[in-house]
Amino acid sequence: MTVKAILDEKGRDVVTVGPEMTLSDANKQLSKHKIGAIVVVDSEDRICGILSERDIVRSLAAKGPPVLDNAVSSVMTSNVKVCDESHSVNQLMEMMTKGRFRHLPVEADGKIGGIISIGDVVRMRIEQVEREAEEIKAYIAS
Ligand code: AMP
Repeated sequence: MTVKAILDEKGRDVVTVGPEMTLSDANKQLSKHKIGAIVVVDSEDRICGILSERDIVRSLAAKGPPVLDNAVSSVMTSNVKVCDESHSVNQLMEMMTKGRFRHLPVEADGKIGGIISIGDVVRMRIEQVEREAEEIKAYIAS
């Protein structure tokens, strides 16, 4: 199972913001779209950061509510790990586990081309295990 197969099923739309947006407005986007992280892109849709709800919680704890007026760029993670459509679910699990994050933007032609969350990975893995179990049962019964 590859990233391409996941994206073919769930779609390639990604909620993005620009680096100059305030944390307060980015927070509203997270809430509006019911998501846990937002990809930060430049004017040409190139990935330049990722802002997770955890980044907002941490910066609020460290600096208090006035931090919400700061730009997303001051809090986002700039060194973004990305995947492409050829990565396998197992590779994604390894990257997420090693990096301790739950989101992997998909890069296509140097631009944002989708996003995979840990929820997508877990769902795909469960489906894969269930399929394999059915195949083994069918094999034993035959
Ligand atoms: P998450 O678990 O994805 O909500 O994010 C936890 C932390 O990892 C936050 O500081 C994020 O900014 C950061 N983060 C999330 N996704 C990535 C990624 N793909 N590459 C690098 N850092 C990330």
